Amino acid sequence: MSSSSSPCPLDAEFSDQIAALLAPPSPQSEQEYYDELIEKTKCDGIRVKRTKKIGKGVFANKEFKEGELILKDQILFAAQHSSNKVDCLVCSRCFCFIGSVELQIGRKLYFQNTGLSRKQDCDHDTISSTSEEDFPTELLDEGEGFITDHSNGVGSSTSQKLKENSLSEEILESLMNGDLSLPHSKNFLLPPVVACPGGCEEEHYCSQQCADSDWGLFHSLLCNGNGVESTQRDALLRFIDHANRTNDIFILAAKAISFVILKYRKLKQHIENSKDKVYQEVTDGSCFPLLFDAWKSISMGFKGRWWDCISLPDEVSFSNEASFRMQIRDLAFTSLQLLKDAIFNKECAPLFSLEIYGTIIGMFELNNLDLVVASPVEDYFIYIDDLPFPEKEEAEKVTKRFLNALGEEYSVCCQGTGFYPLQSCMNHSCCPNAQAFKRDEDKDGQAVILATRSISLEEEITISYIDEDVPFEERQALLADYGFRCKCQKCLDEQP
Ligand SMILES: [Zn+2]
Ligand SMILES: [Zn+2]
Ligand SMILES: [Zn+2]
Repeated sequence: MSSSSSPCPLDAEFSDQIAALLAPPSPQSEQEYYDELIEKTKCDGIRVKRTKKIGKGVFANKEFKEGELILKDQILFAAQHSSNKVDCLVCSRCFCFIGSVELQIGRKLYFQNTGLSRKQDCDHDTISSTSEEDFPTELLDEGEGFITDHSNGVGSSTSQKLKENSLSEEILESLMNGDLSLPHSKNFLLPPVVACPGGCEEEHYCSQQCADSDWGLFHSLLCNGNGVESTQRDALLRFIDHANRTNDIFILAAKAISFVILKYRKLKQHIENSKDKVYQEVTDGSCFPLLFDAWKSISMGFKGRWWDCISLPDEVSFSNEASFRMQIRDLAFTSLQLLKDAIFNKECAPLFSLEIYGTIIGMFELNNLDLVVASPVEDYFIYIDDLPFPEKEEAEKVTKRFLNALGEEYSVCCQGTGFYPLQSCMNHSCCPNAQAFKRDEDKDGQAVILATRSISLEEEITISYIDEDVPFEERQALLADYGFRCKCQKCLDEQP
């Protein structure tokens, strides 16, 4: 599809290394990787296997009953949607809500007041596998195009409502700083807010452990706090600003690249410290074997380049397909240049090629799951509503006006997108035996997969990537976005 030559000089300069990074992993290293991952998640009821008929898939290693937990999959790469950040304050590593119910409410109303808050649909019971839904690439609609559009109800009506409910900035501040506590909020305690170790205002954590882990895995290269040199900080801000204006999937791609660079550095440090023979071999030539090793978790998940695998929006006619795909590629290239200005690392140069950048984004495009975490603010107001007389009336004297000010959007959940290494191996079926579903106790960003019927030993575990209740032709059209034609039992039965 990408017939014209790449605008990125690194593509040609490092073509051999790029080809090696993009080669499919050996069956043995693939098996080892997934076995190790399953051991780490402690969900030993499943096994990732490759078969001739279906390729890679997830299979039951035991019997599951209907409703039983199959897998809690740890996040490999995830990000909260930038537009959701004004509504929910969550840990940037595990995505649980932090601070207090008061802080969540006060902060949201404060942003509403300043016109920053945006309305979003929120269905946190089911989460669907996605391609275009969560990082909408709503393209070519208004001249410039490529705008991630979450803004369908900004500002004026809510701030009007706020004025009518007479909530002063002072009251909101006292909610946020803890001077004003709401009745019964002790039943909804949240972890305290831990600041970013680099001192930026962007990221917050639920614990020092989450802060340190995020710093070590991703954030130390992407932090724009005071510790960072000012030219690098400006470059980072330009990258983030571009991602926020176009498509926040670039933020996730930056995390992935940062992850590989940091892992590469750790591997190198380890070898230098151990001073063994391998070090000699490595330093004699290039450090590419280490980069290859650091790249491993991405090599397991990618499928194609973003501009090749992205589905064609309805507004784009087939005759414009090639130019549409080139525009996507150019957009990615613009983002990559900005990222390169900020965090380029010479020893990891192949990572900054457009081929690799496109492949990382393509992996997210085809595999990502909506990240959804229910809001404790919703639980809080439901709790108040369920209180017996006279406690309820007593509590509502205080809470009612906040609820009114929040309006229908009082329970906006945390929304983002995530790549989950084991869940991403699950194949689609229109009559699936499993489903991504958050239970009441699941209060962070992990992917939770439950059995929707009993599953026997060795049976393949499948989920639905689409709404499986729509008619046959519509399902096939939706699945074409994922690059395949479904041959599940339901499709075979309904095939005309
Ligand atoms: Zn956390
Ligand atoms: Zn930071
Ligand atoms: Zn099907």
